[in-house]
Amino acid sequence: MSQPHIVIIGGGFAGLYTALRLLQFPWETSQRPDITLIDRQDHFVFSPLLYELITEEMQPWEVAPTYTELLRHGPVKFVQTQVQTVDPEQKTVVCGDRQITYDYLVIAAGGTTKFVDLPGIKEYALPFKTLNDALHLKEKLRALETSAAEKIRIAIVGGGYSGVELACKLADRSGDRGRLRIIDRGDEILKNAPKFNQLAAKEALEARGIWVDYATEVTEVTADSLSLRYKGEVDTIPADLVLWTGGTAIAPWVKDLALPHADNGKLDVNAQLQIQNHPNIFALGDVAQAEDNLPMTAQVAIQQADVCAWNLRGLITNKPLLPFKFFNLGEMLTLGENNATLSGLGLELEGNLAHVARRLVYLYRLPTWEHQVQVGLNWLVQPLAKLLAR
Ligand SMILES: Cc1cc2nc3c(=O)[nH]c(=O)nc-3n(C[C@H](O)[C@H](O)[C@H](O)COP(=O)(O)OP(=O)(O)OC[C@H]3O[C@@H](n4cnc5c(N)ncnc54)[C@H](O)[C@@H]3O)c2cc1C
Repeated sequence: MSQPHIVIIGGGFAGLYTALRLLQFPWETSQRPDITLIDRQDHFVFSPLLYELITEEMQPWEVAPTYTELLRHGPVKFVQTQVQTVDPEQKTVVCGDRQITYDYLVIAAGGTTKFVDLPGIKEYALPFKTLNDALHLKEKLRALETSAAEKIRIAIVGGGYSGVELACKLADRSGDRGRLRIIDRGDEILKNAPKFNQLAAKEALEARGIWVDYATEVTEVTADSLSLRYKGEVDTIPADLVLWTGGTAIAPWVKDLALPHADNGKLDVNAQLQIQNHPNIFALGDVAQAEDNLPMTAQVAIQQADVCAWNLRGLITNKPLLPFKFFNLGEMLTLGENNATLSGLGLELEGNLAHVARRLVYLYRLPTWEHQVQVGLNWLVQPLAKLLAR
């Protein structure tokens, strides 16, 4: 009998970490599965550290290692291609002309940037979700920095986690030339964050002179301006860069899958993360609707990856499956260079200490021990190299 074949769509926190967890189990030879990981990119993205690319506190190889690098010792087969759909009847994943057959399927394709339908938004507002988004933003910043313009005027739409973290890093990079504002339609920033983090963020924004427009809506973006509606009046202001952090949407191909969906377009899964009436198909991470009101975070995706891997093994070895239960470990935000805030597990820290703690937690969370060692060594060596270069 041939080995069971597990196909994983998406090599993010949910998919990649499921593959890596599967490799750790002590399989009997006859049951050891073949694992195929599919992603449209050639690299994983550790998105909580994406902000560090703007200030060049970290390098792309640290934040976005390639799958070839991460999977070089394990027997996981990596296929770089764009998935178009899944045929649950034929048990195939369709990618262009190619069809990949599975026994067990994991759908972990994450989400895409959610844009609203406003003039100029898609053309001129920059998203910040992928490595390419971060590199594109850096290119734009470099062009502005080397221009003769006296000020660099940056507007960030959205006062959630991404908006606030981005604003602080951009302010630190731009220094005296930067003129930053956050636009939010609500009356406070980080409305879902613990009070401690919210206060630390407000202080960080104030210390950097970042203006926040509350109760304000964007109505239009052009190549060099932004129109804002406040109390019914529309005002157009100049802007060199507009960043859009409007949340996460589910990709159309996922919404079109012939599988049960929740009202928000996510794939509906049971407590074991399986899709109703398709026990051999799992969905997890941003693409899945598990418990109500689960945040779309890496923390959830990593915890689900553990349960998904365990349950795949359970199906293959006829063992009981585990239900997923989210354990909230708290949250951490970067608030500029060498500055952060964290709140969780009864602990509250801010400033440089929180920055170091955040770095250490993320070092521990990087996907493989080899990558942890390379990045950890680099963090030790870089300050020394900078000192010697003076
Ligand atoms: C800038 C930023 C900062 C963040 N900071 C934090 C944080 O501090 N803490 C936290 O917990 N969470 C954070 N998040 C949220 C977190 O990154 C997501 O919740 C998490 O990545 C979800 O994991 P996932 O595996 O479901 O999706 P993803 O990590 O997005 O992975 C999905 C993968 O699927 C691939 N894919 C998608 N469609 C296809 C297709 N059709 N064919 C092939 N491959 C496909 C993508 O290329 C991607 O690699 C942040 C997100 C961003 C954007």
